[in-house]
Amino acid sequence: MPNKPEFSIIVPVYNEKDCIQEMYRRVSEVMNSTGQTWELIVVDDGSMDGSTEQIRELGERDKKVKPIIFARNFGHQIAVTAGLDYSEGKAVVIIDADLQDPPEVILPLIEKWREGYQVVYAVRGEREGESWFKTFTASFFYRLIHKITDVNIPLDTGDFRLMDRRVVDVLNSMHERHRFLRGMSAWVGFKSIGVTYKRAARFAGETKYPLKKMLLLALNAITGFSYFPLQLATYVGFVAAGISIIAIPIVIIMRIAGSQAFFGQASTLLAVLFLGGVQLICLGILGEYIGRIYDEVKGRPLYIVSEAPEKPSK
Ligand code: UDP
Ligand code: MG
Repeated sequence: MPNKPEFSIIVPVYNEKDCIQEMYRRVSEVMNSTGQTWELIVVDDGSMDGSTEQIRELGERDKKVKPIIFARNFGHQIAVTAGLDYSEGKAVVIIDADLQDPPEVILPLIEKWREGYQVVYAVRGEREGESWFKTFTASFFYRLIHKITDVNIPLDTGDFRLMDRRVVDVLNSMHERHRFLRGMSAWVGFKSIGVTYKRAARFAGETKYPLKKMLLLALNAITGFSYFPLQLATYVGFVAAGISIIAIPIVIIMRIAGSQAFFGQASTLLAVLFLGGVQLICLGILGEYIGRIYDEVKGRPLYIVSEAPEKPSK
């Protein structure tokens, strides 16, 4: 089709009423400076603070803005997924609405894309205005995922990135529901490179990622890209069986020799409690995977839109 834009910018929004106008202004400034055609896909992830009206109004004022309004809050990863589904650009950029990812960094991302890289991810060098707790947990999380998963997910990298149309088409064909996009984009492969930037403080408002959502994202990342938790039961089982095989003859010999060391219930109770605990944890881990299988089998739509332009035909 002749009128497909060169670039699509995807912005997920959840209660960001004080950020939207500034985000629009700065993204427009940067994108206009490229001299290319572009579209701004703003996904409203069930906001309740008036962001929805602002997004709708932006869409009426500027035809480059495509508002996608969700029927409820589906979460950040799903909002970005919807943006990818509706995007038409030859290169697609994912960016946060709170301006923590400075839109000016899009220019170096585009430069790398022009050099022939299909995924250009932005690496958080420094972080500004975030609590030590967030910085610490985030850093721990990225390293844990890196260690236990099979795909090479770059460290300290969020969803702020540019992807070539070919990569986006592959991502759009992956329908898993518990999504961890940065892992998926690493799994897909293609020629990738990182660009380091300084992550700014939020322009306004507060983080929409409380601890609970962060843990859920971490869980999705781990279960989505690793069997390691499932294998833990095997390892613990071998260790426990190994200990008991060594311990049984020792205890028998000590009893025959008249030792009093293994009388009493405390040691038995502790062993039972310990193994009971380990078994319950393993059951819980199984439950996490089975719950996810159940979600996949149900095959519900990933998101429901209440207002959106027509979906581009693939
Ligand atoms: N967001 C969303 N749905 C949610 C939570 C967050 O669309 O359920 C958006 C939010 O509006 C922002 C981006 O995802 O544009 C990143 O969220 P936030 O800045 O709160 O996360 P942080 O930067 O603190 O990790
Ligand atoms: Mg943020």
